[in-house]
Amino acid sequence: MNMYAEVIVDIAHSDVDKIFDYACGEEMRPGMRVVVPFGRGVTTGFVMRVKPTTDVPPEKIKRVLRTEDTLPALTAESLCLAEAVTSRYRVPMALTLRLFLPAEMRTGKVSTRYRTVCRLAENAGPVSPRAKAQLALVEYLAEAGEADSALLRERFGGALKALKEKGIVLSEKRRVFRDPYQGETGQNSVKNLTPFQQNAVETVNRTDKTVILIHGVTGSGKTEVYLSLIADTLKAGKTAVFLVPEISLTPQMLMQLRARFGSSAAILHSGLSAGERFDEWMRLREGTARIAVGARSAVFAPLENVGIIVLDEEHDGSYSSESSPRYNTFDIALLRARYNHCKLVLGSATPSVETYKRAKDGEFELVSMPERINARPMPEVRIVDMRREVRRGNVTGFSTELRQKLSQCLERGNQAILFLNRRGYSQTVICRDCGYVAKCESCDVSLTYHSDENCLKCHYCGARYRMPPACPECGGKHLGYVGTGTQRVVGDLRKMYPAARILRMDVDTTSGKEGHHRILKQFAAHEADILVGTQMVAKGHDFPQVTLVGILDADMSLHFADFRSGERTFQLVTQVAGRSGRAQEPGEVVLQTYDPENYILRFAANYDYEGFYAHEISMRAATMFPPFAKIVRVMVTGEDEQETLSALKCVYEKLNRLYTSEPDAFLFFNRMHSPIKRIQNKFRYQVLMRLADSRVLKDVYAACAEEHFKNVLVYVEENPANLS
Ligand code: ADP
Ligand code: ZN
Repeated sequence: MNMYAEVIVDIAHSDVDKIFDYACGEEMRPGMRVVVPFGRGVTTGFVMRVKPTTDVPPEKIKRVLRTEDTLPALTAESLCLAEAVTSRYRVPMALTLRLFLPAEMRTGKVSTRYRTVCRLAENAGPVSPRAKAQLALVEYLAEAGEADSALLRERFGGALKALKEKGIVLSEKRRVFRDPYQGETGQNSVKNLTPFQQNAVETVNRTDKTVILIHGVTGSGKTEVYLSLIADTLKAGKTAVFLVPEISLTPQMLMQLRARFGSSAAILHSGLSAGERFDEWMRLREGTARIAVGARSAVFAPLENVGIIVLDEEHDGSYSSESSPRYNTFDIALLRARYNHCKLVLGSATPSVETYKRAKDGEFELVSMPERINARPMPEVRIVDMRREVRRGNVTGFSTELRQKLSQCLERGNQAILFLNRRGYSQTVICRDCGYVAKCESCDVSLTYHSDENCLKCHYCGARYRMPPACPECGGKHLGYVGTGTQRVVGDLRKMYPAARILRMDVDTTSGKEGHHRILKQFAAHEADILVGTQMVAKGHDFPQVTLVGILDADMSLHFADFRSGERTFQLVTQVAGRSGRAQEPGEVVLQTYDPENYILRFAANYDYEGFYAHEISMRAATMFPPFAKIVRVMVTGEDEQETLSALKCVYEKLNRLYTSEPDAFLFFNRMHSPIKRIQNKFRYQVLMRLADSRVLKDVYAACAEEHFKNVLVYVEENPANLS
């Protein structure tokens, strides 16, 4: 019987963003990838639905040329989610569907890998005693049982072929899975849950709410709660999605999961090789792996029958996607939880103000874990006034107190983590004669000096520049460095503590799949005494021997012109501090600041989340910022300034009509330059809005989706994590 497939072609353009009907056979299933005639050529597409009839007249209907899958690449749930994402964010369906597949599957560059395995036939005939190589091979196989044909060919040459022809050696093709981190596992023994952990697990099981927020201080053992919930889910025959914010954390978490659940855990993240990513995805799709671990994109893991979704470090900014569709991981996770009728567990020591409010308002279940494991004390935070240090003539960036504590820590054979917000050698290069600041040619930002490569780098586009011998503006020779970065701190430490072993972790030292993993592994094995790094060192790590944490520039993030800067600073300080004193020995934290009275830093130093929250939420309410309003930014960027401006004008006019028709929905509405006027040669303009009421949101999306500009990109961001 003839069937018809509703196909979305894999071309992300709004002109073809519709369903096309094709004739197909009965074996067609929704979710399969197909090759179809399209226009004058052929293209790949996705089958959304299969139906017995079509409205397309018979002389016009074309036939599916072939299917690419036996098992549909997209599950029923994926198709359903894709519909929701597409209509929510107003992007072409093809673009959304791509989220659900590993990129390499679409491009066809990677496929399933096989190997050929050989063994002896059971009643094989004799081998001629003169054929030495053949005899040796038979002997080898008799001992080994089986072996890879490539290996046998290498060792015994033509003997393999001869034996196969005689039927003495049999071979068979077997599927191989490329394994990221090559079978490495970590340590994780099942622990007896503490009463707080037990309570968290029971609350998740008992509540009739879909979303549960676990507010647990750093070191309270949240991971163990997740693992216990996941174990129960697997036992019930279901699958689990486990989301972590940073790629750098994923391997560690994976090792724990592997130790506990063996090969049931599969990892999905962009740092894997194409083959590994493909195979891990396949293991999930085929059901051999039942736990998907990964950063935000893993929320699209092809699992069926999901029994729990965990979103660890809920507050982390990396859960918002920065490319189209600009989804929020929580929103997708919630859709999946509803689809599967399962729980969505959020965890954090520093929940975002928005999430905490929803929990307090009763929309989410709230469970708290207020103590560290074994009632270990939270590390004491000492606030050091750097203005005093400078007055005393200490301009090194290391306070006397920090240096004392660091010496003690090293003498006792413990480890320390030093955190600062900037990578590189120093913030920027400035001419002391004329005030010239070295800037990137394609972005509107100053450059950072990197001493190891003796060059200037742009942290936005990655461009490198030679260090000028003199000021390009005035020719003056007094070029100086301002500010300090990770590289410089390491340099200074080497001079102060020549015997200490120091590791640096930032974007520059962690390229490649193994980047973070290698550094973290070295530090965990105590092959280094001090770890210096940016935000990356703040996140979730559990190093038992760390007893000192130094925060070198606590103020940095306070001064961003962003409504979240206070919240970010609180989170950052709490998280970094939380790396100290996680085992037997109590930990300490030295927090250096030029603003020691700052209330955010005070709340953080006292681990007073409630105090911080009460203050922050009342301020947000008074000023009408999220969660009491929504910030929406429409970005308009393009290489040609005139084209960009005319696109801006066009978008602005449409939005302005919306604004004038529904003025009450807007608290703020204006167009302007973005704070960074140019990135990677693209001019950046924006229409910035603050919405009192989200009901106009879909009209904002619609206004931006209607028009297409040739060389200008227009997109909508909701409560963007980064307003630069
Ligand atoms: P969090 O994620 O809340 O910061 P972790 O999950 O990393 O905390 O746990 C902190 C430490 O406590 C880890 O070293 C972990 O192995 C240990 N731990 C967790 N639960 C228990 C338990 N029930 N008994 C003993 N040790 C535990
Ligand atoms: Zn640049």
